[in-house]
Order: sequence, then C-alpha cells, then structure tokens
Amino acid sequence: MEWTASQGWLPPRITPYQNLSLDPATCVFHYAFTAFEGMKAYRDDEGHVRLFRPDRNMARLNNSVARIALPTFDGDAGIQLISELVKLEQRFIPQQRGYSLYLRPTMIGTQKTIGVGPPGSALFYVIASPVGPYYPTGFKAVSLEATDYATRAWPGGVGDKKLGANYAPCILPQMEAASRGFHQNLWLFGEEEYITEVGTMNLFVALKNKETGQKELVTAPLDGTILSGVTRDSVLALARERLQPEGWTVSERKMRMKDVAEASEEGRLLEVFGTGTAAIVNPVRVISWKGRLIDCGLPKGEEAGPLTVQVKQWIERIQYGDDAHPWSVQI
Ligand code: PMP
Repeated sequence: MEWTASQGWLPPRITPYQNLSLDPATCVFHYAFTAFEGMKAYRDDEGHVRLFRPDRNMARLNNSVARIALPTFDGDAGIQLISELVKLEQRFIPQQRGYSLYLRPTMIGTQKTIGVGPPGSALFYVIASPVGPYYPTGFKAVSLEATDYATRAWPGGVGDKKLGANYAPCILPQMEAASRGFHQNLWLFGEEEYITEVGTMNLFVALKNKETGQKELVTAPLDGTILSGVTRDSVLALARERLQPEGWTVSERKMRMKDVAEASEEGRLLEVFGTGTAAIVNPVRVISWKGRLIDCGLPKGEEAGPLTVQVKQWIERIQYGDDAHPWSVQI
C-alpha cells in the first residue's frame, strides 16, 4: 500500500513476491526511514487460521512510524489487510504445533531525496514466510553476555520503537559476544547496570525476594529503553492472573545486574528466560558479567525450568486456539 503526502493511502494490493525498484537516492537507504513488526499466523486443530493480538502489533507499528515522520494508518484496517494476505497464503501454514506463518509488516520512506526531511511518500508492505518450531528438539538454554561497553537504548531515545535503525548497531556487539561463546547480549543500562532486555527479547527473572522471601517474577518497566513486547505483556497478564493467587508477586521494576548476581549467589535465583514472538520463551543458563559466570538456577542437564515450560504452554495454547481467549483472533 503506497502513501503520498498529497493523496494519503492509495488502494492496497496483493502481488506476487517480487523485488522493489527504488531510486538510489530514496530516503530509506540514507536516513533509515524504516520500521517493522514481527507477528505470526497459527493454524488451530480445526484448520482455522488465527492471529495473536494483532492489534498490539498494529499499535506498536503506528507508534514506531510516527516517531520517524512516516504516516500512521488505521490499525483495524491493517489487521484486515494482513488477514486477506494470510487467507490467500494459508496453504503455507502447517497444522503441526510449533509451525506458523511469520509475518513481517514493514514501512519505508520512498521519497527520492538527499535532503533530510519528512518523507513525502511511503510504502507499507507485508511479507510472509512459513517457520518451524524454534526448538525442534525441545528447549535449548542460552548463555548471555552482559554488555556494558555498548548501549542499545537510553531515556528519551527510540529503544521502545521497532525502528530498523535500532537493530543494525546491535549486530557488532552480538558478534563479539558470539566470539566469546555467548548466544546473545544482555543489554545493561547506566552506571547502576540496570537489566533492560536481551538480544531481541524481553527478559524475565524469577527469584525469591530478598526482603520478603516471596517468589517474584520480575521484568524491566516500560521506561522508554525497552521494546514493549507483545509476549512480555501477555506473560505479565497471565502471570498476574495465574501465579499471583499461588503467592507469587509479579513486578515490572528496575533490577540491577548485581541484584541478579547476588540472588544467584544466595540461591534465590529460580529461573531466567527471554520472551519474544520467535521462541515465545527462551531459557537462560548463565550470564557472563565482569568476568564471572552467573548461574541462572537451571539444574545440570536440564534446558528449562518449570515456570519457563509453563509459560510457553500458556501462550502456545492460546495462540493455537486450544484455550479460547480474546487474544487469539480467528480470521
Ligand atoms: N525486544 C526487542 C528489541 C525485539 O526486537 C523484540 C521482538 N519484536 C522483542 C523485545 C519481543 O517482542 P515481541 O514479544 O512483541 O515479539
């Protein structure tokens, strides 16, 4: 769907997958006028196709594009267009658990201009690809490198937007972590070394609270330095509904790396996992920090703790329509 400043959004089209043809001066290539989303379509046991909280992805994309002077759009209309595409391509969605159609809504500025200014034209397109289970052979716990020499996002910045410009600068630190044998960066912020997020996932820490001794599930607050993950929000809501009655506290609060290290040393660290659309949950075994290896509580030989497994099941059962829930939208 094309947009121009003078005409607004032009009629949408579904076309065969093809190259885009853009002038080398197009503003997306120079000034990174690009924002995107990541979401999936799932097939339930009855063969129906479902989206998971697509309104959240549309709202986040609108939030992202607005920040870089690209045009916003009607979120419900966006869901309708994506649904049409998914219906057309639904033969690519296998019925087996763990399989889905990955959807990548993207918006770029298409104006031909070397001048730096708001794009006078834009393209909103959606591509799709079938994907299999993230962990075909069961969970695989990852090891993280706490990154203190590079900063992913900062207050007043754009780390809470899904802009292309947020991703390219994270690849070099990721390669450095990989060269030292770690799967992902754990992004710390500031002198206090607050834990923000991990690679392209939000981070959850389950621990026994130092003061109260109560079990607590903690994730970083939405203070502008982390992406507001759809999975994060879903885990929080389900944990509040299902864990709090069992005596857990569910918190969005700042947590320092040293608090996690201390919890580990004192045997209070229960589980650590990342959350995101790709894997739903990703268990963490160790975090490397200041030359130390922080043990995240996984018993030897195990790849995921009971809460991590439970959370994945909760979300997956909703995504695949096993548990009726307003988050799962049949198309
Ligand atoms: N943080 C970042 C930086 C991400 O790119 C993603 C993936 N969109 C997430 C967190 C997880 O978000 P979601 O649960 O919506 O996939």
